[in-house]
Amino acid sequence: MMEAMRLWQDLPQRMRDAIGFKQTGVTYLARDASRMAAFEHWLDQARPYGIDTRMLSRSAVEAMLPNSAGWIGALQTPSDAQADPLVTVPVLARAAVADGVIIRECSAVLGLEMSAGSISGVVTETGTVRCTRVVLAGGAWSSLFLAAHGVKLRQLSVVSSVFTTTNLPAGFACGAFADDRLAIRGKAAGGHNLTAWSSNKFFIGPDAVRNFGAFLPHLISDFRSTKLRPAAPEGYPDAWGTPRRWNNTDQSPFERCRILNPHPDMASMAQLQSQFASAFPSIGAPEIVASWAGMIDVTPDTLPVVDHAPIPGLVIATGMSGHGFGIAPAMAKMVAAIVEARAPQHDLLAFRYGRFFNGSPRHVSSAI
Ligand SMILES: Cc1cc2nc3c(=O)[nH]c(=O)nc-3n(C[C@H](O)[C@H](O)[C@H](O)COP(=O)(O)OP(=O)(O)OC[C@H]3O[C@@H](n4cnc5c(N)ncnc54)[C@H](O)[C@@H]3O)c2cc1C
Repeated sequence: MMEAMRLWQDLPQRMRDAIGFKQTGVTYLARDASRMAAFEHWLDQARPYGIDTRMLSRSAVEAMLPNSAGWIGALQTPSDAQADPLVTVPVLARAAVADGVIIRECSAVLGLEMSAGSISGVVTETGTVRCTRVVLAGGAWSSLFLAAHGVKLRQLSVVSSVFTTTNLPAGFACGAFADDRLAIRGKAAGGHNLTAWSSNKFFIGPDAVRNFGAFLPHLISDFRSTKLRPAAPEGYPDAWGTPRRWNNTDQSPFERCRILNPHPDMASMAQLQSQFASAFPSIGAPEIVASWAGMIDVTPDTLPVVDHAPIPGLVIATGMSGHGFGIAPAMAKMVAAIVEARAPQHDLLAFRYGRFFNGSPRHVSSAI
């Protein structure tokens, strides 16, 4: 996290301006003493890393969020930052291209070409790219891709929905806030993004059944907030009808469903508005002007897998959970080190591929 923040800060000022990078802080709010105790525990563990996270009292929360109701304290990291992903990704992509990177869009990768047990190329729908080293960073598609090559990855995905409000009253906090019911983030262009943990949807499919035991602690901890659905829409990575194997001449699942674009859970919108209204009675239910959803891929311990795969030449970088945008610069730096066989300068033990298969103790590390 510290490395990621440093790398974001190291971007040239003009690029930080272009992506709307702002250190607006993040605040996790508590309704009861047990949540405050959990924050204290987290802070004890985080302190050695030198981050500026601190506990806030009830009066500090009231000063920051006037006329709010129900919070007795908080955990705040003032240096936490935000940027607009829709702007950031193209800006960084253009910078990479200017540095000589070739980006090929709208071209599905169908599989790996193997020679004598090692990678000799990547087969795409527009031809084969010869190479001996490959990084798989396929988000929610990663486990499907790996399974077709006989490699297991414990990864499932949930649909998370976001709702954008009209401008809230002048002076309403512009940073990011979350409690156990909703998360709020001010947008540079005006309005706030809201999401409710209870708006998460999970589609049951063959991988969900296969990985039931590994994800059981998640299921138990998120039981009330995640809505289970019996089947994913057609073509989704873990839909019942999605092929698990294909020839490089068949139409692959990645061509059948080119963009994972789930519908937002509109049923949760009214609940979210009323949760906001009870937290900010003087503002009431905010007007929603936009909504969208995406799939968040998670592993059983909510930590990424960043490691060599059991196929020589293949590196996996996936399972970024709900934090992949923020931690991307640090993850990319570590992936580059692994690919180039350099020391990554960080302990990557927590991200190793084999941890779900060798009996390592497992903890659900944090919320998605
Ligand atoms: C609603 C929502 C809110 C979020 N909020 C935050 C937040 O506040 N902070 C944060 O840090 N993160 C957040 N995230 C998480 C973040 O967006 C992800 O962690 C991050 O995008 C993961 O990056 P990735 O590169 O691993 O995967 P992705 O972004 O999913 O990229 C993988 C890409 O690979 C492509 N692909 C897959 N398979 C193939 C194939 N066979 N051939 C060709 N292309 C392929 C996919 O089309 C996709 O473009 C949020 C996510 C959602 C859905």
